[in-house]
Amino acid sequence: MAESAWEALEEEIRLCEACPLHSGCAHKVPGQGDKGSPLMLIGEGPGQREDETGYAFVGAAGQLLTQLLSEVGIFRDRLYICNVVKCRPPQNRVPEPEEQAACLPFLRRQLELVQPRVVVLLGATAGRAVLGSGIRVTRDRGKWYQANGTYFLLTYHPSALLRDTSKQQEARQDLRSLRSRLVELGLTQTLAQ
Ligand code: SF4
Repeated sequence: MAESAWEALEEEIRLCEACPLHSGCAHKVPGQGDKGSPLMLIGEGPGQREDETGYAFVGAAGQLLTQLLSEVGIFRDRLYICNVVKCRPPQNRVPEPEEQAACLPFLRRQLELVQPRVVVLLGATAGRAVLGSGIRVTRDRGKWYQANGTYFLLTYHPSALLRDTSKQQEARQDLRSLRSRLVELGLTQTLAQ
């Protein structure tokens, strides 16, 4: 049942032309990982490498994210990861509000299917899409939010960490907080044993 729901969702994403971003992308990037994971990460949108491959967070930013997660003992292959928009915005610009709105129903369905206990929001676009328009990364990163039994943590997008490496210590602090939350909730299946 869940498998067919995933297949239907990914097919809808593949065929989607609901916003102008579809015309410029080589591949849709629906997201990937452990679809039954208690941990879900959400970014902004695919970059060049993601557009080329069809997989989320596989370029330089994704490699940095994988490294930072591994430093706190979290395995990339034990979480689910996706973006707010599934098509690459030109020149990696921030997706327009109408583009985000058109794509948001896919993200909502992904959240319903994965049913994560913990969600990490990578950057302002993901933070605002999920938590509301008042979110500011510089002010709100590292804070925990809770809704309907799910915990949400806002932190920097790894692309911002590549542009400004001085932010990496704060990101490490946020990921240590994430690890503590996973341990507190007994969700150690996402961690290296
Ligand atoms: Fe459809 Fe989302 Fe791609 Fe826009 S970004 S065309 S809504 S899949």
